[in-house]
Amino acid sequence: MLPLREKDGLIMLRGALLNPLSDTECEYYFDALIVARSVHGVTTIEEVGEASDIAQQHGWHLEEFPQSEGVILPAFYDIHFHWVQDDVRHKPKTSLLEWLETHTFPEEARFSESAYCETKAAYFWSRIIATGTIGGLCYSSIHSTALEAAMRHAPDGFRIGNVLMNMSCPEYLKQSTEDAIQSIHDGANAYENRYCVTPRFAPTTSPDLMSAGARLAKENGLFMQTHLCETNDEIKHTLNLYKNIPGFEDIHTYTEIYARCDLLGPKTIMGHSIHFEQGEWYMLARSDTAIASCPTSNAPIEDLGLGSGLFDFEKAEAEGIRWALGSDIGGGPYLCMFDVIDSFERQNRAAGKNGNHHIRALYRSTLASAGILGFGDHRGNLSVGKRLDCIQCTAKRGIEPDATSASVLKAVIGQASERGRFEELVLSTVVNGAIIYEASR
Ligand SMILES: [Zn+2]
Repeated sequence: MLPLREKDGLIMLRGALLNPLSDTECEYYFDALIVARSVHGVTTIEEVGEASDIAQQHGWHLEEFPQSEGVILPAFYDIHFHWVQDDVRHKPKTSLLEWLETHTFPEEARFSESAYCETKAAYFWSRIIATGTIGGLCYSSIHSTALEAAMRHAPDGFRIGNVLMNMSCPEYLKQSTEDAIQSIHDGANAYENRYCVTPRFAPTTSPDLMSAGARLAKENGLFMQTHLCETNDEIKHTLNLYKNIPGFEDIHTYTEIYARCDLLGPKTIMGHSIHFEQGEWYMLARSDTAIASCPTSNAPIEDLGLGSGLFDFEKAEAEGIRWALGSDIGGGPYLCMFDVIDSFERQNRAAGKNGNHHIRALYRSTLASAGILGFGDHRGNLSVGKRLDCIQCTAKRGIEPDATSASVLKAVIGQASERGRFEELVLSTVVNGAIIYEASR
């Protein structure tokens, strides 16, 4: 049990703590006390620091607050995933376009059935919460049934959209342009800012539909998400398609298509963005468009990814582009953001890039992703003023008074690497000061 204690109208949590602040800074306390207060239904952290100092200041006996097992971290925000692809995560992958045709589209078609959606949603959303993810950006299928089921089961930190598809896709997943536009109106009306306008990607979504979506997103203040430059074959395929579309004959890059449809902007998140021409970096930087990078999905095929390549985070940062990490379930094979953090570290280390990649990846899975979603000033880590959202992780070793944040995080992740079971690291998930998941022993 996670020992959350109530005293004098306050909620306390004591234990070892990791609190990411930036790409390079992460606080570590061997024995911290978090003190939070619930006002009008929101539980906000008022103090966090050395347990003995805080207890002394208040005249409390430290023994009143039992220490949590393991280590406490902020909960995750996964900025790119497809909840309707949970069942194709482990299907054989050879390349993006082939995997979509063979496994993903047939699976998404099953979400036209509301009973199937309900069963899948109840299972999926309870599992993702059990892996420590409490918010993010999510793609649903084209169907209203799937969107409704997801919205029923997902916590309020998730932004979710039905994919928009009206060309170059199987007939069984093709919407008419009018139906697709109507689905945006319906989503925005029913779910307001929890709804995210989601053109699947340029090959399956016509320019008039993308432009209408962008207009409605901007009118309603909604987020937008799509995929961009994931593989070289996809780029070639997209540019070939658009050569024949009136008004797009002179397009040289993939990003220009989205720019011409007015999709770029500070509330737009582009998935992947691996294979860019220099001009495409400029377009994203100038428009303040953000990137969702998905290392487990882009990883080599032998690591169960699609082999798409490595996102150049250094280049993105040099251009001043905001970015964060996503699991890309089901292109990505794993639900848990610890897998994503580990994959980011391994791939960048193998590529000879310097830096503490674990700390960077933790920050890009929590505070940075919450920030891109507009939650940054009141969610995303465990600093004073933030809502008390956290996870408790098992840590059999590495928690020592003289340890560093980097060594503790490495030790936490190392236990799973040895067993290959990242999902089991999370013992409990807390949202708004309440335990919403606890591992059964
Ligand atoms: Zn995706």
